[in-house]
Amino acid sequence: MNPLQNDPRIEYGLRPVINASGTMTGLGASIVSPETVEAVASFLPHFVEMSDLQRKAGAVIAEATGAEFGVVTASASAGVSQAIASYMVGADLGKAERLPDVDGLARTEVVMQIGHMVNYGAPIDQAVRLTGATLVPVGTSTETKEYQLAAALNERTAVGLYVVSHHVVHYGQLSLAAFARVCHAHGVPVICDAASEYDLTGFLKAGADVVVYSGHKFLSGTTSGIVAGPKVVVRGVYLQSYALGRGMKVGKEGVVGAMVALRSWAKRDHAAVRAKEDGTLRLWKERLEKIPGITPTITPDPTHNPLSRLHVAVDPDKANITAWDLADRLAAGDPPVIVRDHEVEWHYFFLDPCNLHPGQETIVAERVEQECAWARTQPAPVRSNLDDRNRAKEQALLRWPD
Ligand SMILES: *Cc1c(COP(=O)(O)O)cnc(C)c1O
Repeated sequence: MNPLQNDPRIEYGLRPVINASGTMTGLGASIVSPETVEAVASFLPHFVEMSDLQRKAGAVIAEATGAEFGVVTASASAGVSQAIASYMVGADLGKAERLPDVDGLARTEVVMQIGHMVNYGAPIDQAVRLTGATLVPVGTSTETKEYQLAAALNERTAVGLYVVSHHVVHYGQLSLAAFARVCHAHGVPVICDAASEYDLTGFLKAGADVVVYSGHKFLSGTTSGIVAGPKVVVRGVYLQSYALGRGMKVGKEGVVGAMVALRSWAKRDHAAVRAKEDGTLRLWKERLEKIPGITPTITPDPTHNPLSRLHVAVDPDKANITAWDLADRLAAGDPPVIVRDHEVEWHYFFLDPCNLHPGQETIVAERVEQECAWARTQPAPVRSNLDDRNRAKEQALLRWPD
């Protein structure tokens, strides 16, 4: 089956974007695997008792992660909020219904390293505050010491929240093991947000009590969050769907999609996927290194997921275009190619091979070659002001839907 035949995006008047940026929820997250599509489609016309479906999903999550049990939420972000709420109110629906009012609750503080206070499309501190919890930042942006964490923990602390992500500050932070050891010494449990990570067992082994994943990122499932941990905590997460979590409801398609995605993950030929991605990276590197002013380097994932990306450095003087103008022209062109440009002020972007359909790798290389050839014909350097560019993006968002 070639998903690009009968492409529904054309019928709906949507641009057929090529995703060379990784798993971006703003682009529809990932390519949902045929197995998951089929399983979800088979469930859609049927009624199902959701509490039973979640019970089945819990067993699948336990099997995949090594946790005692699990539950599917609407998203990883919802999973973080609901897991915090679970630690604050336990299996008490009366207290759950009062959230985000935390009056009378004993433990309402959530401790995080400042270097972990990321934005994954929304600020993570809001996922914390949504529950009524108070966020207690520890350390400084570039450094946290165990004594600083210890000093922040007290009888009001509900949870220590740890983030594993390329978004976090990558030096000077406590390891998960150290963070968990200090928290546990103070009787405080640890939730690990590992939304985008491939490792389904390591974070629990390293000391996290609860781990949260996205079903729709590397797992290639439907939009969902996966929460794994002790059964009593997971029960509390599930019970939030009758309270705070009601507005973050996951449907049957989300639960089935996450279950099947987890099962497929266990069976997936990871070495073959990796080999294919590496082939794409070599092809891109060979073609891009011939372009004046472009220096491509194959770079491992910063959080040690088993994947690499192409780091594309753009010398604006030699290429006659800046990295951000090149990224924007690739995104605006035909077909649109979306690159990973969140560090573009440093004159590079990444090409990520993990969400391409067969044949798109050559289109990506061609599009970069075309835009660079165009730039070389320009009499003046293509160099827009980066602040203006960023402001224009912000203003475009604020004008939505216009
Ligand atoms: C993507 C991401 C999230 C949010 O995941 P959703 O499932 O889309 O809510 C949370 N945390 C981190 C670290 C992420 O990368």
